[in-house]
Amino acid sequence: MISMKDVCFDYDNGTRALYNVNLNIENGEFVFVVGQSGAGKSSMLKLLTRENVATTGEVIINNYNLGNLNKKEIPYFRRTVGMVFQDFRLIPGMTVFDNVAFVLRVTNFSNKYISTRVPYVLDLVNLSDSANKYPSELSGGEQQRVAIARALAGDPPILIADEPTGNIDPELSLQIVELLVDINKYCGTTIVVVTHEHEIVRYFGGRVVSIENGQIAFDEVIGGEHEHK
Ligand code: ADP
Repeated sequence: MISMKDVCFDYDNGTRALYNVNLNIENGEFVFVVGQSGAGKSSMLKLLTRENVATTGEVIINNYNLGNLNKKEIPYFRRTVGMVFQDFRLIPGMTVFDNVAFVLRVTNFSNKYISTRVPYVLDLVNLSDSANKYPSELSGGEQQRVAIARALAGDPPILIADEPTGNIDPELSLQIVELLVDINKYCGTTIVVVTHEHEIVRYFGGRVVSIENGQIAFDEVIGGEHEHK
């Protein structure tokens, strides 16, 4: 669950990037967050990952009140939110399997869990056959699927994807978002996709939160074009 209550955020230079943001995302929802460049999307994401702390107001995620977290709690909180980035952020010298297993190893999951969980998430993203390949041997779309598998490895209740299709060929972009939609449906993971690609949002439809000038300008459920095809 994500709850932002009367949230404002000011950068050190005084720029107010978010004004009175109120947003509730329930468990199991799929939400697009859209907005032009400079609207405040990254500023909002940095509050959701506790990279920054709200200047005023309250941010509560998965029962963690991010305004009151102490340093020790931050890594535990972060494990409850899987992240997918525009630039994949895979480790080039590691195989697909190890890229996904790495996050589990550093957080002390057992080898037994890793040996079943990694193949399971690679199967979810349809990359079982590529477990022993290196990122450079994969297409952009495949690399992003590895990043999605990695984000799901620890079974977080929330997955946030920041412009996940930004570095992917347009024809594969729909497949990536479709995969996220399927994961939401079949695994129940709450998914937030930040994008400036309006075609994708129009195609899938669903709940759309639009940010303009640091404020929520629109928060509604829209019908998707693919449903009419
Ligand atoms: P978006 O992600 O939608 O492009 P941002 O959240 O990056 O928007 O930016 C929102 C506002 O905050 C903009 O006016 C931007 O110039 C400002 N901003 C972003 N980062 C910083 C920063 N580190 N210091 C000062 N102002 C910033």
